[in-house]
Amino acid sequence: MDAFQGSLFAAPAGRYARVALNTPVRREFAYHIPEHAEPVEAGCRVKVSFGRRPIIGVVVAIDDAPPKGVPVERIKDIEACLDATPLLNKSLLRLSRTIADDAYCSWGQALAAMLPAALRSDRSRRTIVTVELVHALSEKEFETLEMKFPKQAKAVAYLRQAAGPMEVREFCNRTGLSKSPLTTLHKKEWVKFGNKTAVIDPFAGRELVRDTPPQLTEAQQNCVAAINKSIDAKHHQDFLMYGITGSGKTEVYLHALDRCLAQGRGGIVLVPEISLTPQTVARFRARSGDVAVLHSGLTDAERHDQWLAIREGKLRVVIGARSALFAPVPNLGIIIVDEEHESTYKQESTPRYQAREVARERARLESAVCVLGSATPSLESWQAAIDSPDMQLLYLRDRVAGGSLPPVKLVDMRTEKAEGGQWLVMSSQLKFGLKKILEKKEQAILFLNQRGFSPAWYCRPCGKTISCETCDVALTYHRWRKKALCHYCLKEESMPQCCPTCGHKVEMIGVGTERVEDSVQRAFPGARILRMDRDTMLRRESYEQALKDFGDGKYDILLGTQMVAKGLDFPKVTLVGVLNADTALHQPDFRSSERCFNLIAQVAGRAGRSLLGGEVIVQTWMPDHPALLAASKHDYDKFSVVELQERKDFGYPPFGDVLRISFESQHQQRAIAMANEAYEALKAVVPGGFGQTTEYLGPAPPPIERLRGKYRRQLLLKTNRQQLLLLRPTLYKLAEQQGIVVDPL
Ligand code: ADP
Ligand code: ZN
Repeated sequence: MDAFQGSLFAAPAGRYARVALNTPVRREFAYHIPEHAEPVEAGCRVKVSFGRRPIIGVVVAIDDAPPKGVPVERIKDIEACLDATPLLNKSLLRLSRTIADDAYCSWGQALAAMLPAALRSDRSRRTIVTVELVHALSEKEFETLEMKFPKQAKAVAYLRQAAGPMEVREFCNRTGLSKSPLTTLHKKEWVKFGNKTAVIDPFAGRELVRDTPPQLTEAQQNCVAAINKSIDAKHHQDFLMYGITGSGKTEVYLHALDRCLAQGRGGIVLVPEISLTPQTVARFRARSGDVAVLHSGLTDAERHDQWLAIREGKLRVVIGARSALFAPVPNLGIIIVDEEHESTYKQESTPRYQAREVARERARLESAVCVLGSATPSLESWQAAIDSPDMQLLYLRDRVAGGSLPPVKLVDMRTEKAEGGQWLVMSSQLKFGLKKILEKKEQAILFLNQRGFSPAWYCRPCGKTISCETCDVALTYHRWRKKALCHYCLKEESMPQCCPTCGHKVEMIGVGTERVEDSVQRAFPGARILRMDRDTMLRRESYEQALKDFGDGKYDILLGTQMVAKGLDFPKVTLVGVLNADTALHQPDFRSSERCFNLIAQVAGRAGRSLLGGEVIVQTWMPDHPALLAASKHDYDKFSVVELQERKDFGYPPFGDVLRISFESQHQQRAIAMANEAYEALKAVVPGGFGQTTEYLGPAPPPIERLRGKYRRQLLLKTNRQQLLLLRPTLYKLAEQQGIVVDPL
C-alpha cells in the first residue's frame, strides 16, 4: 500500500479513483470515474456500490490507469461525487493514513472516525428525542409492573430517578434496554416523548466574564514567549507545559491562542471530557470569541453545520474532546491538549488512537505548535521532553495565587476499626475532618471510584463472589433499585440471598457511593450531601445544575465518582477525602501506578484553592506503595524517576511497545484456537521469548474471561519499534478478522 503514496496528492483529472471504505479490510478499492462526471479529487466523498449495497467512501487518490491485475470490466463506476471541493485537506488525509497504520485499522475506518456522522452516511440523527415519565405510579402499580413486565418497571424506575425529560439514546445507553418498553409505556400514556432542540452552545446560558487578561507572572511570560516564538516562525514544535494545579496553565494557553488568532490562524483545544470541564470551556469562550464547542449533545445535523462553519473559517477556535482533533480548521496555528495525561485521550474503539500523539502528528503536518499541559504529565510525554529536542519542556512551578499545595495525609485503613460489625467506610481522621468543615461552614469533596451500594456479594465458605450470568463480573448492589446490577452488560438481577453453589448466606462486601452517602448521613444527620454518579446524573442537565448548586453553597459535601475528580474549582472546598485509593492499584496493568498517582494529584488539586487553605485525606490499605507515597508529597519528579526506571527495566512504554491482542467468540474453543493460531503466526515472524526484546504474554484468559456471553482470550505483545515493524503485516492481517482486536497500549 505504501506504493500508493507517491501518486497520492498529484491529482490530475484522471479516470480511476482509489476509494477508502469503512470496512476492516486494509485496502482501498478502485472505481471508475464516468466521463461526464463532476470533477472528483482526493479528499472528496463519493457514493459507490460495495457488494450490492451503496456506501459512502472517501477518495484518497486519482489514477490514470486501472490498478494492475484487475480486469477493467470489473471496475464499477462511481455513482456520485458528494463534494464539489475536497472535504478533507491533504494533511487530514495523510493524518488519517498514519492513524490507520498505528491503530491497526483500515484507512476508511480512520477516515470515518474523522468525519461527523452526518457526513459519513445518508442516515443521520436530526433531532434529539426525549422521554419523560408523566404518570405517578402508586407503589402497588409499580410492584405489579415489576412482577409482570420487569423491563417496563426498570424503565419507569430510571425515568423516575431522572426526574425530567431524558434523551432516549442516553436512556438506552444507561439502562441497556431497547426503545420497546418505552413504546409500550407510551401506549399506556405513562410516558411522554418530546423533542429537544439541541443546545448548540451548552455554555451560552452561563454568564460570561469577558475578562481582561491578567498581568502574566514571570513564569507564565517565559512559557508564552517560548510558544509564541515557534508560532511566529510558523514551524512545528511540541511543548510540554508542566505546571502544578492552579499555576496558570490555562492563562498561557489563552495567550498563545490569541497570538495565532492575531495572525489569522486558528486553534484546537482538547479537553479530557467536555461535560466534565465546563469551567475551562467557559474561560476559552470568554476570551476567544468565535468558538465552536463540539460536545456530545449536538445532533448530527448540528455537528455537520459546525464542521462546515469551521472549514469555512467562520469559527476559528474549536474546543472538544478527543475527536475535535479532526476539526478542519484552516490555517491551523496551535493544538492544545489540556490535562494531557488523562486516559480519555485514548480511544477504546476502532480506531484505537492516542489523541496526544495524533495531536503532535497533526501539528507536524500543518507546521503548527502543539502544547501539552499537565500537572502530572504522562510518562511518555515526560520522557520525550527530558530526552529529545522534539518536545520542549516548560515549567510553571508555583501557584499563581501563592500558597502551596494542600498537605496530603495517608490513612492506613488496616489499623482502623469498624464500629459494631459495620463495613468500614470512613476513618476516624476523615470523620474528624468532616466534622470540622461542617462546623466552619466550609465544603468537602469525597471521591470514590465505585458507584452503587456495595460492589460484591461474597460467599465465605466458597470464597467466591456472585457473578453476572453472562459476564465474569461481580454484581453490584444498587440500593435505589433494590437490585444487583452488572456494570458491564447492565442486566439487573434480584438480590441473591444465598450462594448458588453451596447455599450459604452471602454477605455484601465493599463500598460504593450509595453506601458512603448512607454512612456520612448517619454520622452527620444535618449535613447536606450531594451525590454525583451515573445513577443520580441521568440527565445531561443534571450535572451542570448540581455543580451550580454546590458552588452556590446549597450543599456541604460533594460525593461522587470520577465526575468530581476533575478540573473543578470551588474556593470553599477545604477538605478532599479519597475513600479508597487502592482500587487504581489493583488493576493488572503497567500503568496502574501512574493512574493512581495522577488520581491523587488531581483530586488533591481540588482542595485549598483559596486563602482558606485545605487538606487531603487519602484512605488506603497499601500506605507503603511508592506511587501513593510520592503522590502524598506532590512529588512528581521522584515518582517519574522511579516509575520510568521500572518501565525501562521491563521494556514498557515509553521504552518499548506493548500491544494487547484480544480474541472473542461465542464458543470457548474457538476463542482459544484463534488465540493460539495468532500466537503461532506471530512467533513465526519474531520468535521472541523470556528476556528477549520481544516477549509474548499468553495467550491467556483476560481478567474478565466472559463478557456479554462471549468467551475471551488475550495475548500481550511486548516489543520494540524495530521488531514491531516486522510483526506489523501479521498484526494487520489479524486485525482484519472478526473477533480479533489489536490494541496498542
Ligand atoms: P491551571 O490551568 O494551571 O490550573 P489557571 O490558569 O486556571 O491554572 O489559573 C489558576 C487561577 O489563577 C485562575 O483563577 C486564573 O484566573 C488565575 N490566574 C492565572 N494567571 C494569573 C495571573 N497572571 N494573575 C492573576 N491571576 C491569574
Ligand atoms: Zn453482565
